[in-house]
Order: sequence, then C-alpha cells, then structure tokens
Amino acid sequence: MTMKQFLSSSTCLSCRGCCRFPEEESEWRPKVTRDEEQVMRAVSANDASSTHPVVDDDGYITTKQCHGLFICRFYNTENGECGVYQDRPLECRIYPFVLTQQEGKPAVSVHLECPYVQQTKGSAKYQEYVEFLQQYLADDERLAVLQSHPHLFGAYESSQDELETVFNLDDLTYPCSGRGEQA
Ligand code: SF4
Ligand code: SF4
Repeated sequence: MTMKQFLSSSTCLSCRGCCRFPEEESEWRPKVTRDEEQVMRAVSANDASSTHPVVDDDGYITTKQCHGLFICRFYNTENGECGVYQDRPLECRIYPFVLTQQEGKPAVSVHLECPYVQQTKGSAKYQEYVEFLQQYLADDERLAVLQSHPHLFGAYESSQDELETVFNLDDLTYPCSGRGEQA
C-alpha cells in the first residue's frame, strides 16, 4: 500500500508552519526508526555545516538555530522545502497526524494547531484519510517496525490540549517507553 498525503506540498509551502520548533529539544521534532536514521546519516555524510549528530540519543532529528527558532537540520530556509523529502521519516509523512500515547498505550492523534486540520476536520476527505491511515499502519510489516520502535510514540505531555486522539493501535503490545531495537 503506497503512502498517501493528507495535504499537498503547495498547501504546506504557503503555510510554512512545520519543521520549526520553539526549543532545541522540542518534543515535536520528528523521531526516526533505526533504518530512517541510517538514511539521514547517509544524506548528511557530506554536510560539513553542522557538528551535531544527525539524530540524538533519544531518536530525534537534531535542529539548527535560525532567527530565534530551531529548525529541522534538513529544512531548506531558502525555498522552504525538505532536504530529504523523498526519504523523510514516517512521522513527517503522516503529520498532522501524530503517533502518541494515550494512557501509556500507542495511538494516533491529530494536531489541532495545523490550519489545514482546522479547515478540513470532519469532512469526507479527512475521514477518508483517517481510514487510509488506519489501514496503512495495520500492515504487518509496518506494525513490526512500530512494535520495535516504541520511542516513536510521544507523550506530548505539555501539548495535550493541541491533540485529539483519532484511533488506538491496539495491535501493538507494549507500554510506550524507551527507544526499542531495530526490526
Ligand atoms: S501546519 Fe499543517 S498546513 Fe502548515 S505546513 Fe504543517 S502540515 Fe502543512
Ligand atoms: S525531515 Fe523534512 S519534513 Fe521532516 S521535519 Fe525535517 S525538513 Fe521537515
């Protein structure tokens, strides 16, 4: 099953609300699987502009400082595009849907701060995407990857009022903690 996009690149390019964070260690930075980390490292291998590791010890992509904000190290400030768009992590592909924890169990929530969510939530298009995402994440191979990377499910303790649970991932059987091992 091919990943579908909920919104178009042009919508995001006119919004530019993503890929930037108020704090260097923001819980909203994308988290990656071990395979995704390898890809990010390979892409950054020739980047001499940063001495930071590509991914930190907790599995988050690191940031760079820009005009008082912290932006994803792969964000291109000149054209607003993702520098690893074809290889971007699952978390970036599914946003404004977010892997979260509800009472310590894995779930998918939607980020209510996204303007496109505010415009479309409750519409047929929104519902259709939720159903697609539910099926997409229920694939055995993807479930195995999620099962082995519990750190992908963020607690978002300080942002709970910005999130609304969309569905639970009942097929995953772990309490959400730790970084997990590669599938
Ligand atoms: S906040 Fe929503 S519309 Fe804006 S860039 Fe992010 S995903 Fe796109
Ligand atoms: S990897 Fe790309 S899409 Fe994801 S936060 Fe970084 S710049 Fe944005």
